[in-house]
Amino acid sequence: MMPEEILVNFTPCETRVAVIKNGILQKIDVERSRNASITGNIYLGVVVRVLPGMQAAFVDIGLERNAFLHAQDLVPSQQKIPGLQQSDPKADIASLLAEGQRILVKVVKNPMGRKGARLTSQISLPSCNLVYLPGTDGMRVAQSVQDPECRERLLQRLKEAVGNSSADGGFILRTAGVSASVDDMQSDIRFLTGMWDRMRRKASTSEPPALIHQDFPLSVRTVRDLAWENIEKVRVDSREMFEQMHQFLQEVKPGVLDRIEHYPDASPIFDLYGIEDEIQKALNRKVMLKSGGYLVIERTEAMTTVDINTGSFVGRRNLEETIFRTNLEAAAVLARQLRLRNLGGIIIVDFIDMAVAEHSAQVMRTLEHELSRDENKAQVNEMTALGLVEITRKRTRESLEEVLTEVCPSCDGRGSRKSRLTTCYEIFRETLRTARAVDAQEYLIVASQPVVDWLQGEEAAGLADLEAVIGRKITVRAKAGYDQEQYDVAAM
Ligand SMILES: [Zn+2]
Repeated sequence: MMPEEILVNFTPCETRVAVIKNGILQKIDVERSRNASITGNIYLGVVVRVLPGMQAAFVDIGLERNAFLHAQDLVPSQQKIPGLQQSDPKADIASLLAEGQRILVKVVKNPMGRKGARLTSQISLPSCNLVYLPGTDGMRVAQSVQDPECRERLLQRLKEAVGNSSADGGFILRTAGVSASVDDMQSDIRFLTGMWDRMRRKASTSEPPALIHQDFPLSVRTVRDLAWENIEKVRVDSREMFEQMHQFLQEVKPGVLDRIEHYPDASPIFDLYGIEDEIQKALNRKVMLKSGGYLVIERTEAMTTVDINTGSFVGRRNLEETIFRTNLEAAAVLARQLRLRNLGGIIIVDFIDMAVAEHSAQVMRTLEHELSRDENKAQVNEMTALGLVEITRKRTRESLEEVLTEVCPSCDGRGSRKSRLTTCYEIFRETLRTARAVDAQEYLIVASQPVVDWLQGEEAAGLADLEAVIGRKITVRAKAGYDQEQYDVAAM
């Protein structure tokens, strides 16, 4: 696997983390203090409504919207906190939860749009090598480790580490922890059980709704969750943040300390590898390909569509070859763009039609291969006869576009607006309507400068006709700040 480099950029209200592989930006994470992620936070909440029909409940955790807890995420509560009730996972939700009941929950999904946060009652606490599941029992190895012998060896190591400690509860060995020694694991266990003890004390003395544990800031989460064996260097442009990361790693993963580094240069860290430019490009609809073709990525509420096009001129002779090369390049570029833009849900890709079956097969193999390196699981369905491929990609966070942009108020996100001519004709109809409703000596039209210019230029004859029809004078006035679609008609 190619070594990766991580760059962390800090400004007082925003932290950005870039993953670079091969000198190319692969992924970008942005966290703003105004709307920081609450995923991973642990709250003492109160059940406000139980919905037996949906096998779910709404829980007040102190946010604007009540959070959502589904029965499948309601695990036996053996959390041993005074005042919390025990529950049985197979029973009906109405028998497990009652309105007014206190419950300790962890946020698994941030609130998005009109949806409240999604919760689980299974408390899980990750550190670098392990995940601690207080109140459960059993040891497990991450599913990504497939070799049975290797799994068994790791499991023995984990059991030894837990056995040497006084910890109770379950542990999972993370993918990032496969090379951890027994000693390394014991550092994790000390760290995690200490954290859980503090949380338990806080939960037993707090009044719900209360935040019991806030997950680490993005900078520390980044070094906690990294698959370190692929990481060459982590560079941070803030001394303070560097200290935070250093302090955390010292406790649970001291072996990697020499790979984190404070970046002291005056030139912005994101100018390395042209990251700022890449972020800009990741917000554009169009992505240019080296072969001359391009992708058009469009997001609607229900799905993302990706259209693949060849360049402007393609000779007849090598048409099939050009199409094949364009599709092949597009498959690789698309996988990276999905990561970079953090697009999830249904993605429909419209490849250029290929005449040769082997070409289609190879494009599909490339697409599947590129997506397989994705940490967000993606499923690729077979190509249809029309060259359409449906991908479903796990949606975990907001897309880059949702994080960085807002809907354009001029066009309300349509990407186009009514033409000046259309607005002129709307104004004519409105003036007629007003004249019929209210008899006045004069009518006043107020509109944006471009529309006024149009009314007095190209449509001057139309305006004169209108005056003749209603038999009254019409005055036109421009108003600064009016949008091209905006106007008023008044009887004077
Ligand atoms: Zn617009």
